[in-house]
Amino acid sequence: SRTPIMAGNWKMNKDHLAAVQLVQDLGSALVDKDYDPASTEAVVIPPFTDIRSVQVLVEGDKLPLVWGAQDISANEDGAYTGEVSGAMLAALGCSYVVVGHSERREYHAESDELVNAKAKKTIEHGMTPIICCGEALDVRKAGKHVEHTVGQIKADLAGIDSADVAKLVIAYEPIWAIGTGETATADDAQEVCGAIRKAVEELYDAPTAEAVRIQYGGSVKAGNVVEIMGKPDIDGALVGGASLKPGDFTEIVTFYQ
Ligand code: 13P
Repeated sequence: SRTPIMAGNWKMNKDHLAAVQLVQDLGSALVDKDYDPASTEAVVIPPFTDIRSVQVLVEGDKLPLVWGAQDISANEDGAYTGEVSGAMLAALGCSYVVVGHSERREYHAESDELVNAKAKKTIEHGMTPIICCGEALDVRKAGKHVEHTVGQIKADLAGIDSADVAKLVIAYEPIWAIGTGETATADDAQEVCGAIRKAVEELYDAPTAEAVRIQYGGSVKAGNVVEIMGKPDIDGALVGGASLKPGDFTEIVTFYQ
């Protein structure tokens, strides 16, 4: 059985001082709620400039959190101004790396080929990719959302072996539901997450498909997380806005209570 995973993607919010405050507040809110890390994994994904501060605080105070990064370079090291390498992220104790978020696909023209290279680089450095996929509104209106999203995932997983796929996380984030307050219905989310799992089974095998964790993302809040998590192929959430509020994110992490 799959351990649910709730990840807070802070996007470009909070400097390192604000990050310390947020993680301290989140840590106490989780303890107050009797959060049990065996029930759900709680992940914070701050900007690069915050990661060292988050690491020191979480390790120092033994907070029940793991952390990750929002992006990674597909290159190993060298003359790549502005990029951050897998080795650097691994050295900061990152467990997860988000790759292929729709905001990077859209504003930085990231292709499935690049997302695939970044996922491989993440695995090479002993971290777990959270591979994002999902359709824009016009694709959904045309009824092509399953085909589009499954196509992305097939391309993003190319050449990754089944043992690694079994351990990674896929986040289905329909673009029209991100930051809009518009959530996909739980049934809409299940339709695509189920299709992704089926595609993994076709590409690999049933045990790999059973093991891979699939998140839904897009306006997840305390008020809708329980219904979303009730669906058989949804194993967690990738949370933007609500992850910046310690009380709200705690409610999401402890959805099982
Ligand atoms: P919101 O939760 O703010 O809609 O963002 C979702 C998202 O993009 C998480 O990666």
